[in-house]
Amino acid sequence: MSKSVITYQEGPFATVAMGLPGDHEGKTATRVFFVRGADKTALIDSGLYGGLPALEQSFEELGIARKDLDLLLLTHEHMDHVGNNGWLKAETGCEIVGHAGRADRVADNMLNAKAIVHAFPEGEHFDLNEEYLDWMGPTEGPIDRFVKDGDVIDLGGGVELEVVEVLGHSMCEIGFFERSTKTLVIADPLLPPFNPVLYLYEDPAVMRATFDKIEKFLVERDVQAVLFAHDEVKTAAETQELVDDCRARVDKVEASILAHVKANPGISFADLRDKCCDDQNMVREWRALVSIDASLKAFAAQGLMKQQGAGWHYVS
Ligand SMILES: [Zn+2]
Repeated sequence: MSKSVITYQEGPFATVAMGLPGDHEGKTATRVFFVRGADKTALIDSGLYGGLPALEQSFEELGIARKDLDLLLLTHEHMDHVGNNGWLKAETGCEIVGHAGRADRVADNMLNAKAIVHAFPEGEHFDLNEEYLDWMGPTEGPIDRFVKDGDVIDLGGGVELEVVEVLGHSMCEIGFFERSTKTLVIADPLLPPFNPVLYLYEDPAVMRATFDKIEKFLVERDVQAVLFAHDEVKTAAETQELVDDCRARVDKVEASILAHVKANPGISFADLRDKCCDDQNMVREWRALVSIDASLKAFAAQGLMKQQGAGWHYVS
């Protein structure tokens, strides 16, 4: 067998790491998490299609028969988290569990891709296959059962996963808190500082509320370890530092937007994207459009900015 694909193993958890292509190459990986109880085995997220060999190997390495995977729990609909849903459903017959809000996207890869990559006119020159669809397998695995904040998934032998809504990066994102080990698994609400793309959020106020929620959760629930999709496992104290860093990065995106709209009356959405990415040395790509659009809408709602034709203006 080739090099181990299991990067972390503790209590009921085993983490499988998969490399990311494109702008992310070599900078970050995505991770999926096996959680084993006395009665049931769950996998949190299915990863990206390019990670399928690692996923197949992980079953062998962990000695889990494919038919013994009971549940696939989805954190959110993005392509690097649902890429092997179809394969897992066909191979294991697992029940797929997730948030109801984006179930239509999970069930339809093309809709999933268009709803984010082509959400804005400036996104349309990005290739759907290269940017999104190639990250997902040829078949979808739709959600069979919906869960919401506070629901508990009992895997047996005291291993219980509590659903924790962590909205903002995706407006339908959930994490899972394993009660016996006080381990919190969250995919993308806290993105690592070495991420080569602008902080991705769909609503800045909701994103900030989630930072506050996670911060409180760490203390109130005495969290012992936090597992992330794109970062190493962290202690609560390390996670607290990351929360502060994430807040600062969202603030920085908004400070850039404000500065450039003030300095360049009538600036276009596309130019604003380029300037904001340049400010933070980030790749000029489609994900940035999501965050910039979200903040522009929030600034407009506060009466701080207005759109005239294709241009953005500061309201003094
Ligand atoms: Zn994501």
